[in-house]
Amino acid sequence: MNQVINDTIVPLAYLFAAGCFVLSLRWLSHPTTARRGVKTGEIGMLVAVVATLVRFEIVEYQWIVLALVAGAALGVPLGLLVPMTAVPQRTALSHAFGALAAGIVGTAEFYLSGPHEGAVTMVALGIEVVLGFLTFTGSLVAAGKLQGIVRDRPLVYRGQVVVNLGILGAALVMVGILVADPSMTFLFPIVVALSLLFGALLVIRIGGADMPTVISLLNSFAGVAASMMGFVLDNKLLIIAGALDGSSGLILSIIMCRAMNRSFANVLLGGFGATAAVGDTEQRPVRSIDPEETAFLLDTARTVVIVPGYGMAAAQAQHKVRELADLLLRRGADVKFAIHPVAGRMPGHMNVLLAEADVPYDQLYDLEQINGEFPQTDMVIVIGANDVVNPAARTDTTSPLYGMPILAVDQAASIIVVKRSMRSGFAGVENELFHLDKTQMLFGDAKSVIGDVVQELSRLPSREAV
Ligand code: NAP
Repeated sequence: MNQVINDTIVPLAYLFAAGCFVLSLRWLSHPTTARRGVKTGEIGMLVAVVATLVRFEIVEYQWIVLALVAGAALGVPLGLLVPMTAVPQRTALSHAFGALAAGIVGTAEFYLSGPHEGAVTMVALGIEVVLGFLTFTGSLVAAGKLQGIVRDRPLVYRGQVVVNLGILGAALVMVGILVADPSMTFLFPIVVALSLLFGALLVIRIGGADMPTVISLLNSFAGVAASMMGFVLDNKLLIIAGALDGSSGLILSIIMCRAMNRSFANVLLGGFGATAAVGDTEQRPVRSIDPEETAFLLDTARTVVIVPGYGMAAAQAQHKVRELADLLLRRGADVKFAIHPVAGRMPGHMNVLLAEADVPYDQLYDLEQINGEFPQTDMVIVIGANDVVNPAARTDTTSPLYGMPILAVDQAASIIVVKRSMRSGFAGVENELFHLDKTQMLFGDAKSVIGDVVQELSRLPSREAV
């Protein structure tokens, strides 16, 4: 019976779980199928865990039960209590735990059977341990920055890159020595310490707002560490799941870097935001408008595009924004939402918030879908977005945003921008859009002013009545 379980049932269960993971990733890539994707991933993981536990080489279950209880005691509150706005740091914590597990398993394997392992397994073990431990501290620092526990401005000093690369290089050299001669066990704790140090030093030089890209990259490292653990433990499902995790994290980081027109090197080494003039106040005149006038103007528009950005998330204005969109639709306007891939501070930030406010998916348009429509749009209302609508990305070769694909809202007939002041956005650069003749600034907290606009608009007589 044990033979049948190990040779047939467990491999089939692993195959089923691997299929679930692939389908899960496929479905997670679109908002309409994302829930199905999450459920499928959960089923795959449950099957994988149960199949692993029934393998007959497991002889004692008491430690496993203890670990399951401890994991559930941490995981359930994390899932239920953490607010949507804290999801990036929660994700970073999950990566930290996953990577720590990989590092610890690698350490146990080294001390149990390291000196007797072949070179290939030792290479996999070395990569697992280095990536596992550096991802652990890197993810903790990333979570701390996002939660405001660690200073979120980049900590940059002279010679930092050389020091960091030196630490990583030293760890890799020692891994090489251990591969050649695993009996030099005294080097192993040094590899662990250097990896832990490198992870923390890597992330402290990166600005808080770049953390989503970093977290997605750390996710990819944790995936590779898990995959290597699969080679060490001879567990094919771990190899597959880790590879899926590693490649999807890497692809997401690449998509985010492309959408920001930044390279990996720029994100990881550049200290972006360390010197940017965040908070500078612009003295040039702008045209401002109040909620009442905004309601009048919106009421005359036949086509309206709403462009949400980080400010909508910060103000938690998504419900008011949906009320505005519903009201405009009821009053006969054609309303669309334009979603920039890096609007906000995490991938899919706007999609998540608008989904939470029950905005139908068919009202959401990606950058490529909507950009051609701006010249025919009567009115654009930009809600807490700045960099993603900055025309300097197209025209100013000296701008840090130059080359980043932006929403071409400046091509619309008329633009209203909702924000609290003339302060810059994440990139710390001025926005010429705010100074165009056809742009009017509606100053204030997005939730409060959009609420006022909704009130004013609902007081206006219906179009048919006019
Ligand atoms: P942004 O350029 O950071 O601008 C956000 C604007 O919102 C600010 O200018 C701010 O102006 C305003 N704001 C803040 N709180 C507000 C409130 N309570 N009410 C109204 N307005 C408020 O945002 P974005 O246009 O969404 O661009 C995102 C930026 O983040 C891009 O540069 C992107 O590359 C970067 N980034 C994104 C991700 C991602 O995954 N999405 C990851 C890393 C980096 P006031 O202070 O004047 O109100």
